[in-house]
Amino acid sequence: MKNKLAALSLLSVGFFPQPAVAQTRKQTALVDLTVSVFNDAGVSQSVLSKAQDRATFIMRRAGLFLVWLDCGTPGNRQTNTGCSAISFPEHLSVRLVSRASTATEDTFGQTFQNAAGDGNYALVYFRVLASSNAAEAVKTGELLGYVVAHELGHLLLGRDSHSATGLMTAIWGASELQQACQGKLLFTSDQGGRIRSRYFAARARLKKTSEPSQAGSGH
Ligand SMILES: [Zn+2]
Repeated sequence: MKNKLAALSLLSVGFFPQPAVAQTRKQTALVDLTVSVFNDAGVSQSVLSKAQDRATFIMRRAGLFLVWLDCGTPGNRQTNTGCSAISFPEHLSVRLVSRASTATEDTFGQTFQNAAGDGNYALVYFRVLASSNAAEAVKTGELLGYVVAHELGHLLLGRDSHSATGLMTAIWGASELQQACQGKLLFTSDQGGRIRSRYFAARARLKKTSEPSQAGSGH
Protein backbone atom coordinates (compact mmCIF):
# COMPACT_ATOMS: atom_id res chain seq x y z
CA MET A 1 0.00 0.00 0.00
CA LYS A 2 1.19 3.38 -0.86
CA ASN A 3 0.28 6.59 0.77
CA LYS A 4 0.90 10.17 0.16
CA LEU A 5 1.56 12.67 2.88
CA ALA A 6 1.80 15.98 1.18
CA ALA A 7 2.24 18.93 3.43
CA LEU A 8 1.78 22.63 3.61
CA SER A 9 4.12 25.06 5.28
CA LEU A 10 1.58 27.43 6.69
CA LEU A 11 2.52 27.00 10.32
CA SER A 12 5.37 28.43 12.25
CA VAL A 13 7.35 26.32 14.64
CA GLY A 14 5.53 26.45 17.89
CA PHE A 15 4.85 24.61 21.07
CA PHE A 16 5.78 20.93 21.06
CA PRO A 17 4.28 19.15 24.02
CA GLN A 18 6.32 16.15 24.96
CA PRO A 19 4.78 12.73 25.30
CA ALA A 20 4.12 11.47 28.79
CA VAL A 21 7.45 10.50 30.29
CA ALA A 22 6.32 7.55 32.32
CA GLN A 23 6.41 4.42 30.27
CA THR A 24 5.95 2.08 33.17
CA ARG A 25 3.29 -0.38 32.36
CA LYS A 26 0.50 0.32 34.79
CA GLN A 27 -2.44 -0.27 32.53
CA THR A 28 -2.92 -3.99 32.16
CA ALA A 29 -5.35 -3.42 29.29
CA LEU A 30 -2.56 -2.30 27.00
CA VAL A 31 -1.66 -4.61 24.16
CA ASP A 32 2.00 -5.38 23.49
CA LEU A 33 3.48 -4.41 20.15
CA THR A 34 7.15 -4.88 19.33
CA VAL A 35 8.66 -2.88 16.48
CA SER A 36 12.05 -3.63 14.90
CA VAL A 37 13.65 -0.44 13.62
CA PHE A 38 16.25 -0.77 10.85
CA ASN A 39 17.97 2.58 10.61
CA ASP A 40 19.36 2.41 7.08
CA ALA A 41 19.08 6.19 6.73
CA GLY A 42 21.43 6.75 9.66
CA VAL A 43 18.94 8.92 11.54
CA SER A 44 20.62 10.41 14.61
CA GLN A 45 19.85 8.88 17.97
CA SER A 46 18.34 12.12 19.28
CA VAL A 47 15.91 12.41 16.36
CA LEU A 48 15.11 8.71 16.53
CA SER A 49 14.38 8.74 20.23
CA LYS A 50 12.08 11.76 19.86
CA ALA A 51 10.28 9.93 17.07
CA GLN A 52 9.94 6.81 19.17
CA ASP A 53 8.62 8.80 22.12
CA ARG A 54 5.99 10.41 19.90
CA ALA A 55 4.93 7.15 18.25
CA THR A 56 4.87 5.42 21.64
CA PHE A 57 2.57 8.14 22.97
CA ILE A 58 0.23 7.87 19.98
CA MET A 59 0.05 4.09 20.17
CA ARG A 60 -0.48 4.16 23.90
CA ARG A 61 -3.50 6.39 23.36
CA ALA A 62 -4.82 3.68 21.03
CA GLY A 63 -4.26 1.01 23.69
CA LEU A 64 -0.92 -0.41 22.58
CA PHE A 65 2.30 -0.66 24.55
CA LEU A 66 5.23 -0.28 22.18
CA VAL A 67 8.57 -1.98 22.64
CA TRP A 68 11.24 -0.76 20.22
CA LEU A 69 14.10 -2.92 19.04
CA ASP A 70 17.07 -0.97 17.74
CA CYS A 71 18.30 -3.11 14.87
CA GLY A 72 21.15 -0.83 13.96
CA THR A 73 22.46 0.65 10.75
CA PRO A 74 23.67 -1.27 7.66
CA GLY A 75 27.29 -1.10 8.83
CA ASN A 76 26.42 -1.91 12.39
CA ARG A 77 23.56 -4.37 12.55
CA GLN A 78 22.49 -5.54 15.95
CA THR A 79 22.54 -9.27 16.34
CA ASN A 80 20.75 -11.57 18.74
CA THR A 81 18.21 -8.95 19.67
CA GLY A 82 15.17 -10.63 18.18
CA CYS A 83 15.09 -8.05 15.40
CA SER A 84 14.22 -10.60 12.74
CA ALA A 85 11.48 -12.35 14.74
CA ILE A 86 8.87 -10.30 12.90
CA SER A 87 5.32 -11.61 12.86
CA PHE A 88 1.97 -9.88 12.43
CA PRO A 89 0.32 -8.68 14.62
CA GLU A 90 2.64 -8.73 17.63
CA HIS A 91 5.96 -7.82 16.04
CA LEU A 92 6.17 -5.35 13.17
CA SER A 93 9.11 -3.66 11.48
CA VAL A 94 9.99 -0.23 10.18
CA ARG A 95 12.92 0.40 7.87
CA LEU A 96 14.09 4.00 7.70
CA VAL A 97 15.63 4.69 4.31
CA SER A 98 16.70 7.97 2.75
CA ARG A 99 14.22 8.05 -0.09
CA ALA A 100 12.14 5.86 -2.31
CA SER A 101 13.39 4.73 -5.66
CA THR A 102 9.98 4.96 -7.29
CA ALA A 103 7.61 6.86 -5.01
CA THR A 104 6.79 10.45 -5.71
CA GLU A 105 8.54 13.22 -3.84
CA ASP A 106 5.82 13.85 -1.30
CA THR A 107 5.42 10.25 -0.23
CA PHE A 108 6.78 9.82 3.26
CA GLY A 109 6.22 6.11 3.71
CA GLN A 110 4.83 2.89 2.38
CA THR A 111 3.56 -0.38 3.78
CA PHE A 112 3.36 -3.87 2.36
CA GLN A 113 0.21 -5.86 3.02
CA ASN A 114 -1.40 -8.97 1.64
CA ALA A 115 -4.90 -9.19 0.19
CA ALA A 116 -6.35 -9.47 3.69
CA GLY A 117 -4.57 -6.27 4.67
CA ASP A 118 -2.11 -8.05 6.94
CA GLY A 119 1.48 -6.95 6.87
CA ASN A 120 4.46 -6.45 9.10
CA TYR A 121 6.78 -4.23 7.08
CA ALA A 122 6.81 -0.46 6.60
CA LEU A 123 9.26 1.75 4.80
CA VAL A 124 9.73 5.38 5.85
CA TYR A 125 11.55 7.82 3.60
CA PHE A 126 13.43 9.93 6.07
CA ARG A 127 15.19 12.41 3.79
CA VAL A 128 11.95 13.10 1.96
CA LEU A 129 10.08 13.99 5.13
CA ALA A 130 13.04 15.81 6.68
CA SER A 131 13.35 18.12 3.68
CA SER A 132 9.61 18.62 3.17
CA ASN A 133 7.53 21.67 3.93
CA ALA A 134 6.01 19.71 6.80
CA ALA A 135 9.40 19.68 8.53
CA GLU A 136 9.30 23.47 8.60
CA ALA A 137 6.17 23.26 10.72
CA VAL A 138 6.87 20.18 12.82
CA LYS A 139 10.27 19.24 14.29
CA THR A 140 11.96 16.43 12.43
CA GLY A 141 11.89 13.92 15.29
CA GLU A 142 8.23 14.63 15.97
CA LEU A 143 7.35 14.43 12.28
CA LEU A 144 9.17 11.11 11.95
CA GLY A 145 7.22 9.82 14.94
CA TYR A 146 3.90 10.78 13.36
CA VAL A 147 4.86 9.20 10.04
CA VAL A 148 6.02 5.97 11.73
CA ALA A 149 2.75 5.84 13.71
CA HIS A 150 0.78 6.46 10.49
CA GLU A 151 2.55 3.60 8.71
CA LEU A 152 2.14 1.25 11.69
CA GLY A 153 -1.51 2.30 11.59
CA HIS A 154 -1.80 0.97 8.05
CA LEU A 155 -0.37 -2.38 9.13
CA LEU A 156 -2.62 -2.58 12.16
CA LEU A 157 -5.82 -1.28 10.59
CA GLY A 158 -5.62 -3.26 7.36
CA ARG A 159 -7.01 -2.23 4.02
CA ASP A 160 -8.68 1.11 3.38
CA SER A 161 -7.21 2.61 6.51
CA HIS A 162 -7.06 6.24 5.49
CA SER A 163 -9.60 8.48 7.14
CA ALA A 164 -10.96 11.98 6.70
CA THR A 165 -9.56 13.20 10.00
CA GLY A 166 -6.70 12.52 12.37
CA LEU A 167 -3.41 10.68 12.02
CA MET A 168 -4.64 8.43 9.22
CA THR A 169 -5.55 11.32 6.91
CA ALA A 170 -3.91 10.56 3.55
CA ILE A 171 -2.69 14.06 2.86
CA TRP A 172 -1.57 16.19 5.75
CA GLY A 173 -2.52 19.81 5.34
CA ALA A 174 -2.40 22.81 7.64
CA SER A 175 -4.97 21.36 10.03
CA GLU A 176 -3.10 18.09 10.55
CA LEU A 177 0.24 19.86 10.96
CA GLN A 178 -1.28 22.16 13.52
CA GLN A 179 -2.61 19.16 15.43
CA ALA A 180 0.85 17.60 15.19
CA CYS A 181 2.40 20.73 16.71
CA GLN A 182 -0.09 20.49 19.55
CA GLY A 183 0.51 16.77 20.10
CA LYS A 184 -3.07 16.07 19.05
CA LEU A 185 -2.66 14.20 15.78
CA LEU A 186 -3.89 10.80 16.90
CA PHE A 187 -5.91 7.79 15.85
CA THR A 188 -9.63 8.33 16.22
CA SER A 189 -11.29 6.33 18.99
CA ASP A 190 -12.94 4.16 16.34
CA GLN A 191 -9.56 3.39 14.85
CA GLY A 192 -8.18 2.54 18.29
CA GLY A 193 -10.99 0.03 18.78
CA ARG A 194 -10.47 -1.40 15.31
CA ILE A 195 -6.72 -1.77 15.89
CA ARG A 196 -7.25 -3.70 19.10
CA SER A 197 -10.01 -5.97 17.80
CA ARG A 198 -8.04 -6.75 14.65
CA TYR A 199 -4.94 -7.44 16.73
CA PHE A 200 -6.80 -9.86 19.01
CA ALA A 201 -8.45 -11.63 16.07
CA ALA A 202 -5.12 -12.09 14.29
CA ARG A 203 -3.43 -13.32 17.44
CA ALA A 204 -6.23 -15.82 18.07
CA ARG A 205 -5.87 -17.15 14.51
CA LEU A 206 -2.13 -17.44 15.00
CA LYS A 207 -2.55 -19.32 18.25
CA LYS A 208 -5.03 -21.68 16.70
CA THR A 209 -2.76 -22.58 13.78
CA SER A 210 0.30 -23.00 15.99
CA GLU A 211 -1.44 -25.36 18.43
CA PRO A 212 -0.61 -29.02 17.80
CA SER A 213 -3.56 -30.99 16.55
CA GLN A 214 -4.99 -33.11 19.34
CA ALA A 215 -6.57 -35.63 16.99
CA GLY A 216 -3.59 -35.81 14.71
CA SER A 217 -5.80 -36.47 11.75
CA GLY A 218 -4.34 -33.61 9.76
CA HIS A 219 -7.54 -32.10 8.46
ZN1 LIG B 1 -1.21 6.52 4.52
